[in-house]
Amino acid sequence: MSENGAAEYVVEPQKRVPVAYDVDVAVVGSGIGGLFAALAAGKQGAKTLVIDRMAALGGNIGPAMIVAGGLYNEADGTLVGGLSGIPKMVIDMIEARRTANNYADETSMVSYLGAKLSEEWGIELLLTVWAGDPIMEGNRVTGLFVEGKSGRVAVKAKVVIDATADVDIARRAGAPVIMASPPDPAHGPLVRERRGGEPYRVWNDTALFYMVAGVDFAAYEAFAATRVPLSDADREWVRGRNPGSFPQPLLPLLRQAWEDGSFRHMRDMEPTVHTESAAISQFDGHVGSSRLNVRGEIRREDMKQHSKIETAARVHAQETLHFYREHVPGFEKAYMLFMVPYFGARGGPCIDGERTVTAMEAYEGKKFRDVMYRNIHEGQDMHGGEKSGHDAPYRMIQPKEVDGLLVTGRGAAYIRRGHDPTGMRARPSIMALGEATGIAAALSTKLGVTPKQLDVKTLQRELLRQGAYLGDEARLAELGLR
Ligand SMILES: Cc1cc2nc3c(=O)[nH]c(=O)nc-3n(C[C@H](O)[C@H](O)[C@H](O)COP(=O)(O)OP(=O)(O)OC[C@H]3O[C@@H](n4cnc5c(N)ncnc54)[C@H](O)[C@@H]3O)c2cc1C
Repeated sequence: MSENGAAEYVVEPQKRVPVAYDVDVAVVGSGIGGLFAALAAGKQGAKTLVIDRMAALGGNIGPAMIVAGGLYNEADGTLVGGLSGIPKMVIDMIEARRTANNYADETSMVSYLGAKLSEEWGIELLLTVWAGDPIMEGNRVTGLFVEGKSGRVAVKAKVVIDATADVDIARRAGAPVIMASPPDPAHGPLVRERRGGEPYRVWNDTALFYMVAGVDFAAYEAFAATRVPLSDADREWVRGRNPGSFPQPLLPLLRQAWEDGSFRHMRDMEPTVHTESAAISQFDGHVGSSRLNVRGEIRREDMKQHSKIETAARVHAQETLHFYREHVPGFEKAYMLFMVPYFGARGGPCIDGERTVTAMEAYEGKKFRDVMYRNIHEGQDMHGGEKSGHDAPYRMIQPKEVDGLLVTGRGAAYIRRGHDPTGMRARPSIMALGEATGIAAALSTKLGVTPKQLDVKTLQRELLRQGAYLGDEARLAELGLR
């Protein structure tokens, strides 16, 4: 910005950009949605390229390590019929290989298996690169620019899948996106509150996972099991500051540190964004783990804010450990083992799709004729609905106004998103969504049509062949699939 606040620009000189790849399907983002989209497209025989800014595959279930055993135990609770197809195959492979409930190992295995299966199915990987602008012909995406060590290259693709979780490609392609959604007052019981009653936005918080080593957990547990008297002032402070995950004997110390300014477990970064540390708990042996939470209005498209938050979260995590080392028995010799390389998010922006699924439709078990699978919404029973789930329609991965592009994962068109009952952002749902997206992209290229032109019954038949659950026999007959 110039001194008077006006935006300054430079004009980028026109240049010839080499075409580094010409593929059927380019998948941008190899997170939960992108990885399964790529594997599905590749297995269908499409010439597939995966692009990711990280060096390892898997996103939130890869380098970001958001697992905690959930890969195995959440599927039945979030997908009618449980996992199927490639997600089931991959999770079964991990299940067969893992020796303990150890998500450091499991997330590395996701990256490993992703790489091995990509090799087996002829999927090319282009990692440690940033996806840039889409290449457009009219309203159709026909590829994208990618920036890496070689400079800028072009990728031509018949179908591009935006699996960046932040709708990076769709946004730049000019597709309508929904950048923020306030909590819906109609769902009051699901809207959590923070800091003594201030309404808490339902939708876009995140966390940075870290591990510490060198902890004597026997000494720590003996400390955590004690009880210290709390004064009225302590209780008042606790009510307003939400240190709920910390052990009771630590609370007066946390308050004291807060008041003398030596350590604060909650820190405001901006009026609407704060970081929040949580207790460090035992992971395995002398190793502990925790998450540094970031809550509030995270603008996923704002790189300056992003950089500030990444830095603040890392500083805060480190200082949480310093506090433990000074005050908590068992942590005297603890040290930082590692922090994950990026924080993901639970919510964030999404496309305004050809069909954007609303929270109420999810609760009410809405059915769509272009169903790809059925998602269970945890909140359904709160509204007296049956836990029979709701349909995820093919149109929710199609952006409005733009063709040649499908959007999967967190960026797909469903409203219920953030730190709320599973909605459609839970890992098993995102895996199923990814697989369905990859199959749709591969079928489009095979049949020589755009994703919007793809006959949904062709997709549905293939999904059924892969074991997806689209409904009971009566429903399948109603849809003309029996
Ligand atoms: C703190 C936290 C807690 C969670 N808890 C749960 C839970 O309890 N249960 C549950 O089921 N799910 C949980 N999740 C999962 C979550 O809710 C998401 O819905 C899910 O991870 C979304 O998957 P995705 O594939 O869309 O995104 P991601 O897995 O984040 O993948 C996005 C990928 O895109 C890449 N990328 C992004 N932009 C670019 C670019 N421009 N160029 C190149 N690469 C790019 C990233 O590197 C990444 O690999 C949690 C997530 C977080 C962050």
